[in-house]
Amino acid sequence: MRDGFRQRVEALRARTGKAPGLAVILVGDNAASQIYVRNKVRACASLGIQSLEHHLPASADTQVIVGLIEKLNADSEVHGILVQLPLPAHVDMARVLETISVDKDVDGFHLYNVGGLVVGSTVFPPCTPYGVIKLLEYEQIAIEGQNIVVVGASNIVGKPMALMLMQRNATVCICHAKTRDLAQFTILADILVVAAGKPNLILPQMVKTGAVVIDVGINRLPDGRVVGDVDFAGVAEKASYITPVPGGVGPMTITMLLENTIAAAERSLQVAPVPAVA
Ligand code: NAP
Repeated sequence: MRDGFRQRVEALRARTGKAPGLAVILVGDNAASQIYVRNKVRACASLGIQSLEHHLPASADTQVIVGLIEKLNADSEVHGILVQLPLPAHVDMARVLETISVDKDVDGFHLYNVGGLVVGSTVFPPCTPYGVIKLLEYEQIAIEGQNIVVVGASNIVGKPMALMLMQRNATVCICHAKTRDLAQFTILADILVVAAGKPNLILPQMVKTGAVVIDVGINRLPDGRVVGDVDFAGVAEKASYITPVPGGVGPMTITMLLENTIAAAERSLQVAPVPAVA
């Protein structure tokens, strides 16, 4: 996918003299967020996308962040704006996300894009679930008519994931921390998507033989290892497909951010608009 994106960036530059531009806002010193931002900036550079990191202190208040976003909204060199989450607790996250211009909302978290997701016409699908859809499509794994269980119901992964799968005519079940007896749902899944942030939440006896298992979770263990939410070694013996952590959904999330940024630039510069997806 990234090879294809490089060609799109070159075509854009040839026709307009401009490169796609992504502004990344990082507030505070969360170690994991710093790594994610570094990886995103690096990935942009590898494709010729200009990215500019705005690092604000943890003490920055909502008004300061909103002021920066307003400036970036008005900057014609910036086609995408990403605010790295989580924000410090004192910041009004909803207000920050609603300030991002819907045309630059490459993370897809603005209410306008969330609403688009509900009716199947979002402009910028949120990157992580969009990456999961692309993984399934690449492996030609049917979605329509499948029983799909999504474990996790957050606004940035679980809920948009479920909506995208419904849009593709899957029968979707969403589980969360208050779900009673998780296994009675997961065992029915033809495709199981797990995004809970709990290591070893999914054990082999909870998975149907031959199921496709997508592990979105990223957990750092006390010994420093990074693992997902699924007992990879055990579940790999039953699953027909399984994504590793690290190296599965994570790189796809970044890839879809690149796609959304290029699409935003193409729309803004009116070059070969890319059709909307849900
Ligand atoms: P989040 O906001 O903490 O949401 C976690 C969701 O999982 C909640 O809906 C929660 O239920 C549910 N949950 C928690 N414990 C559960 C349990 N024991 N059984 C069933 N459901 C449970 O997290 P998030 O932002 O969605 O992220 C989830 C995981 O994905 C994290 O590990 C995160 O690091 C990772 N992630 C990875 C990527 C990537 O690119 N690979 C991107 C984003 C996130 P309630 O709603 O009832 O609390």
